[in-house]
This record gives sequence, structure tokens and C-alpha cells, in this order.
Amino acid sequence: MPRRRVLQTLALAGAAAALPRGFAAGSSTRRLGVAIVGLGGYSGELLAPALQLTRHCRLAGLVTGSPHKIPDWQARYGIADANIYSYDEFHRIADDPDIDVVYIATPNHLHKPQALIAANAGKHVWCEKPMAMDAAEGEAMIRACRDNRVQLAIGYRMQHEPNTRRFMAMAQERPFGRIVQLRAEAGWLGWRQGADDAWRLDPARGGGAMYDMGVYCVNAARYSSGLEPVAVRAWDETARREIFPAVDETTRFTLEFADEIVAECVTSFGRNLNTLHIDCERGWYELSPFQAYDGNVGRASDGTRFAAQLGERPRMQAEQMDQDALAILEGRAPRVPGEEGLRDMRVVDAVFASVRNGNARVPL
Ligand code: NAD
Repeated sequence: MPRRRVLQTLALAGAAAALPRGFAAGSSTRRLGVAIVGLGGYSGELLAPALQLTRHCRLAGLVTGSPHKIPDWQARYGIADANIYSYDEFHRIADDPDIDVVYIATPNHLHKPQALIAANAGKHVWCEKPMAMDAAEGEAMIRACRDNRVQLAIGYRMQHEPNTRRFMAMAQERPFGRIVQLRAEAGWLGWRQGADDAWRLDPARGGGAMYDMGVYCVNAARYSSGLEPVAVRAWDETARREIFPAVDETTRFTLEFADEIVAECVTSFGRNLNTLHIDCERGWYELSPFQAYDGNVGRASDGTRFAAQLGERPRMQAEQMDQDALAILEGRAPRVPGEEGLRDMRVVDAVFASVRNGNARVPL
């Protein structure tokens, strides 16, 4: 072999060794096979339809404990029997060449154990918010993915939404001067009298408003200030104890940042709330909604309008999964890596600690 060819071959071999698992050199147009874990509301209504719109990945497998759902999913999406797993056989996905990525969309207490199964099977992990039940679980997930040389991305879809990305840039540009305070409110009127025993009402499975919607406030306060909180105080309130005997119906929390910047946050299963407002020295700007499926809209004190840009659902989830697939294919970090989920879990831990300790100020 001529010397130049030898050098080229060696360079390619070196590059291939540095590539993440799932990447076949020379196949950058390949679509990654995604297996969804948990065929519930979010998977069925948003993720699976979004995968039909993606360019860099495709729905290739399922992991489910509900066999009765399989025929309908197969009829809709043409998934082969060989790519469908029960939770007991989940680990066998390691031998399935059609699956590159496992997307975890189950109740929150299952995120960590299922992420570990997927990572140990050598599959990249995309995991829904909240990343886990607490920071220790989040750290274990990051470790498992690092040890297995697979990527971990968290399903914070807002960080793929154009107006949200604009706000993230404004945190650095500061068009209205120094940020003084922020307000983030995320909630939905989730249950009425006679609600059933869904996992969102069960503390052991990660139920409650803080885990479900509070993380949107935490994440937004962080990405729209570009800062990390230094302390937290929190209060929970349950007006309808008959529906929420064990989890928070509403949680209010204050995040303290450096330079006396504060974020006042509220999350609830009892009210529809969807606003992110930033007050600055010389004006304000806000997104309302700031976590809508159809994209966010907003305005600023100087008359600027932030019009919806992404198109109808499920474009946001398609954009998220394409971005995360490209990160794998190109061997670079995803936009929302596990570490980003972990920073939020540390704040969530502090919120719960403050509530347990009589609304004490909890340093981070
Ligand atoms: P869901 O209740 O509709 O679906 C959960 C699925 O998990 C069901 O198919 C259920 O059968 C299955 N499951 C497996 N083991 C279970 C167990 N032990 N207990 C209960 N169910 C079990 O919930 P969902 O709304 O689809 O939420 C799933 C995940 O997605 C959660 O982590 C949630 O926070 C997240 N989510 C994210 C968004 C977003 O916009 N990013 C939106 C909705 C939900």
C-alpha cells in the first residue's frame, strides 16, 4: 500500500476508535434506530408521531409491559416482532443491531434503572424529564453512560424551541441591562374529584407537581439567567387533600442567584400556569406560554414580539430528536446532556429539603 494510503487508513482507524458507539464510519446519512420505553401518553401522542418527521432517526423498537398495545403500534409504525421487548427481556436489546438509542418515557422512578439497563446494553440513552428521582440517581446515570461510552440526553424539549433559544442568548447579551428578577410559573389543572390512582399521585413513582412541572421552572430560571442558583427556599400547599393525599398539588420556591437576583417560581396541578418573565434594569421580556407543545410566544417592554416559529406539534420533539441524533452521529455532546438534568435534580432535592425543614433556606 502506498505510504499516503497507509497514513489515511491509520487516520481513519484512529478517528473510528474515537467515535461513539452506534456510529458506523462513512454512514453519516444513516438514521439511528430508536426504541421507545413506555407506551404511555407522551410516547403515543408526541414521540412516536415526531419520529415520523425526523431525518436522522426512526422508530425501530419498543419496550413495554403492556402486550395489548403492541398490535396497534405495529400497525401504525411497522415495527418488527424481533425489535419488541418486555421489561424482563429489555437487557437483550444489547444484541439488537437495529437499535442505537433507547428513549425512556416511563414514570420517573423508572428512569434510573432503565437508563442503566440501556447503557449497559451499549445503547445511547435519551431520557424524559425529570431525569431521575434525585441527584444521586442522576449521577449514577451519567456514570453508567460514561463507562459504556454512550450518550445521555435529557428530554428538555424547550431547549430546542427557537424563542427559548433566543432567550438563552439574551441571558448573555442582556439587551435590557442587568437581570434583576425572574418569574417562572408552570402548572396544569390536572385532576378533579374522583381522580384515579395514577403514578403522578404516587410519591414512590415520582408523582407531584414539583417533579412534573416544577422542573420546567428550574430549568427556565437557569437557562434564561445563564446563572446557577446558590440557595433555595420552598413551600408546598395542597388545597384538595382528597385528590392529593401524598404528593404536592402546588409548590412555590424562590431561587437565589449571585448579585441578589431571585427567581420566584410556582408549579401546580391545580392551576393552568405557563409564564416565564424576566425583569431587567431597563425593561422586561417574557414568554407566555414558555413550555407549550406548539411553540412559545412572547413580548418585551420595547414592543418586540416573539412569534411562534417552530410549527405545529410534534415539530418540537422531532427537532429535539434530530438534534440529539446528530450529536451521536457527529460524535459531539448533545444540547441537553445528563449534566444539565443533574443540575436541576440538585435544585429539586433542595426544594424538597426546604419543604421538609419548615421552608428553611437550603444552600446549593
Ligand atoms: P403515562 O402515564 O401516560 O405513561 C407512562 C407509561 O409507562 C405507561 O405506558 C405505563 O404503562 C408505563 N409504565 C411502566 N411501568 C409503570 C409503572 N410501574 N407504573 C406506571 N406506569 C408504568 O405518562 P406520560 O405522561 O407519558 O409520562 C412519561 C414520562 O414522560 C414522565 O417522565 C413524564 O415526566 C415525561 N413527560 C414529558 C413531557 C415533555 O413535554 N417532555 C410530557 C409528558 C410527559
